[in-house]
Amino acid sequence: MKTNTESFSTRIIATILITTAAVTLAVALLALQATREVDADAIERQKTFVARGLKTELDRIPGEQQASTIWDEAVRRVRADDQDWMDGNIGIWMHDFYGHDLTYVLAPDGRPIHGASAGRRMAPEVAAQMAQPLADLARQTRMQMASAQRNAEDPGEAVLGLSTTAVLSLGKQAVLASVTPIVPDTPAVTQTAGSEYLHVAVQYVDDALAARIGESFSLDDAAVITSEPGAALASYPVADAAGNPVAMFAWTPDRPGLRLAREMAPVLTFFGLFCLFVLVSLIVRLRKSSRHLQESEAEARYLANHDSLAGLPNRMHFEDRLEQALEAEQVGGPTVTLLSVDLDHFKMVNDTMGHAAGDELIRQVSTRMLAHVREADTVARLGGDEFGIVLVGMGGGEALLSFCAGLVHILSLPYQLEAGQAHVSASIGVAAGKEVRGGIEAVQRSADAALYRAKADGRGRYCIFTEQMDDVLRRRHDIERNLRAALLSGDQLDVAFQPIFNVDGTLFGAEALARWPGAPGGPLSPDLFIAVAEDCGLIQQLGLWVLKEACAFASTSGLPRVSVNVSSVQLRSADFAAEVLQVLSEAGLPAARLELELTERSALDSGATTHRNLKELKVAGVSVALDDFATGKSLLQYVRDFDIDVIKIDHSFVSRLGSVDGTDQVVRALVDLGHAMGLQIVAEGVETEQQRELLIAMGCHIFQGYLLGRPMSRTAFTAFRPTGGIPRLTA
Ligand code: C2E
Ligand code: CA
Ligand code: CA
Repeated sequence: MKTNTESFSTRIIATILITTAAVTLAVALLALQATREVDADAIERQKTFVARGLKTELDRIPGEQQASTIWDEAVRRVRADDQDWMDGNIGIWMHDFYGHDLTYVLAPDGRPIHGASAGRRMAPEVAAQMAQPLADLARQTRMQMASAQRNAEDPGEAVLGLSTTAVLSLGKQAVLASVTPIVPDTPAVTQTAGSEYLHVAVQYVDDALAARIGESFSLDDAAVITSEPGAALASYPVADAAGNPVAMFAWTPDRPGLRLAREMAPVLTFFGLFCLFVLVSLIVRLRKSSRHLQESEAEARYLANHDSLAGLPNRMHFEDRLEQALEAEQVGGPTVTLLSVDLDHFKMVNDTMGHAAGDELIRQVSTRMLAHVREADTVARLGGDEFGIVLVGMGGGEALLSFCAGLVHILSLPYQLEAGQAHVSASIGVAAGKEVRGGIEAVQRSADAALYRAKADGRGRYCIFTEQMDDVLRRRHDIERNLRAALLSGDQLDVAFQPIFNVDGTLFGAEALARWPGAPGGPLSPDLFIAVAEDCGLIQQLGLWVLKEACAFASTSGLPRVSVNVSSVQLRSADFAAEVLQVLSEAGLPAARLELELTERSALDSGATTHRNLKELKVAGVSVALDDFATGKSLLQYVRDFDIDVIKIDHSFVSRLGSVDGTDQVVRALVDLGHAMGLQIVAEGVETEQQRELLIAMGCHIFQGYLLGRPMSRTAFTAFRPTGGIPRLTA
């Protein structure tokens, strides 16, 4: 199957190849076209050279003739028919000196009286048969002479320098021909019009002429050809006066375009190869990066489905599997059982041994769970210390019970971590797919309800879902929904104040306690709705609201100190300290009159934010109390870590004072310890005079409890006048 990235890269490569090919082709065609044009221009220019060369050759002949024909001696000698003189001066001599191929001397009646060909005198009968085209040219000359002489005084002077030239064909031989009269150069010899002899000079258009023209214009291999010129040759037709071709002039043309192309060829080849190399490496790199992309896509898909810490499927992936298994079960597949697993006291390990230890613990827990399940089952990490297991084909009954008991057992065995040994246990909620109607959500809710019960029953155990458990969970959901609405409407909630007294009966302060008298279905205990608020994140809003109410009351009533309960969730918010200080300044309450009670129950975390919040508040003068002291595990560490000012000895200890189980000694030890650390000690839940006396005897001097005053409304608190001479508040 082709992935998206693969076809994408194929498309890119195809585009690159097609573009490159198209560009190369276009450049090549353009270059070819330019070369052709340059070459065609050059050949045209070379043709004009040939034409110019021919004309120069033709124009030169009359001058050469006239060097000898304008001469008294010549007139006299031709009249005298001095054949030898003619050989030596205007016949053979013309061939030897100028290279004229044919010469004739024509008498005034047109008859040739002398002829030379190729440097030899012609026999008189041969000379007499002068070719017709030359005779025509001679007649033309005489007509021109006659017209020049018509009104002239001196007939000799009128034709001086006159000549006619032409390109002609003598049989098959193309020639350049010139005719000029033989005239005297001084008055010593007289000549009447029409009595002149004519001199004819002929130059063959042959290879020798071609070579001469070729040399002066740098044309290679210039020659006169008879056949059609080949493709490699350039040609120029030599035409007579009527435009008829009489010879073909040919040469190997200079093609500068082609020459340039040839010279550039190695460079171009090198450049082409270089481009090819770049292209190939580009494609290779593209393929490689596309492969990388494919790999990271696969990795991203794995990461999206798995938890990076434990390497187990995550919630999303898990829910997919569960859904599939449930659907298969519906159509007769194997039975599905869902287990919700939650580690007990995991937070403690995180807080006391550090996050690295926490991570290590999670990994070991995962390994143990994987070892305990079978191949077909799925183990997933759903969140911090929450896991889910889907058992396929386990059914109910004994097998399931012993599986769960075994899991609880192996998960509570000690963990050997780098930071030391850790003990945690696991609570497990179990729901069988068959027994729950309503699909995946119902099954999950049922397992959660069972888990909730397992925790409520004391943790470190499993619990199998039954119908009533669903109610508990549904009730929590109801509370959450109603609390959200209550926080919005603002008129259902209230704050009660419970007084706290010094041993001498003076008022130490009061604890603010959240109340929800207007809860739908009757008032709810804060133990219940605070826990829900902590679970669903509403505690921040609720806590802030209580704080505002408490500070406002303390400020207006002159309460020496007001204690406000703070959840560990609130302390983890980065803005907490700033919010508290803002509330204090809005209420106009000095920070020294506010005490924040932190409870050990919700395991304070040792995170940097919690520390920063507390430090900032302490610097501002707020005091910090440790609530429910002695119910948690690491008393002293908290006291030191969070720089506690006050400890509140838990109500459960106070209520057992005077019994035989040794509580008295424990409380005494705690009070001594507290004093030794310079802390104030408050005893909570003091209900009897006997308890109060015992506590006083132990050295505890601050009390809170029903004996002295219940939590009450603001008005009740202001009017409150306890028995035993406790002073009234100044309202
Ligand atoms: P807590 O902080 O330990 O509060 C003291 C609890 O003991 C109060 O219960 C109070 O009514 C009760 N109490 C006081 N004197 C006596 C006595 O002599 N005998 C007995 N049996 N009980 C006594 P309450 O008001 O039900 O509050 C329960 C818990 O809810 C509080 O325990 C506190 O942890 C939490 N809570 C209440 N309000 C808030 C709040 O605004 N924010 C937070 N985070 N927690 C709150
Ligand atoms: Ca408290
Ligand atoms: Ca308490």
